[in-house]
Amino acid sequence: MHAHLDKILINQVEIVERSKQLAKEISEKYAKTDKPLILVALLKGSVPFLAELMKHMSIDIEIDFMDVSSYGTNMESTRDIRILKDLDRSIKEHPIVIVEDIVDTGRTLQAVIKILDNKGAQSIEVVSLLDKPSRREVEVDVAYIGFEIPNEFVVGFGLDFAEKYRELPYIGILHKDFY
Ligand code: 5GP
Repeated sequence: MHAHLDKILINQVEIVERSKQLAKEISEKYAKTDKPLILVALLKGSVPFLAELMKHMSIDIEIDFMDVSSYGTNMESTRDIRILKDLDRSIKEHPIVIVEDIVDTGRTLQAVIKILDNKGAQSIEVVSLLDKPSRREVEVDVAYIGFEIPNEFVVGFGLDFAEKYRELPYIGILHKDFY
């Protein structure tokens, strides 16, 4: 275990097994769509999860990436997001599954769903590796959830603190001396 962690919350085997199950569910749901499913991954945190998930999909898929950052202070009840990297291609009339690392307040997803809806997606669902339901501020429908976790700051498997720890192959709780 990395020395900056209090403990490992979810190990690599658990992540792989859960990703297989989610890939199966998503593959079954989108087996008969006329246009291919596009997995839209939100950079950078969801990259390892996307890679794990897509390996186990049993249908044709395409992938694309978006990078967004939220701005506004914590005091504001509404936050806006800025698009740092937009999709490379049109998603018009394609079914979309957004791939996210963690849903916290829900505000990032709420904004991204609106953007993809405006781009003319046929349908939009969300798969998130982690969910912190106790922190939710806005309601978002997350159709596929890997693991529900308590209100702790976690890193690893794509999740960072100041760009560190993304490479860890598991999810761990960061010791408070390090953030
Ligand atoms: P939301 O808009 O749902 O509040 O924010 C989701 C984003 O916040 C995630 O994509 C992630 O970047 C960040 N985030 C929320 N909770 C955590 C956490 O426990 N650890 C890390 N590393 N990032 C988090």
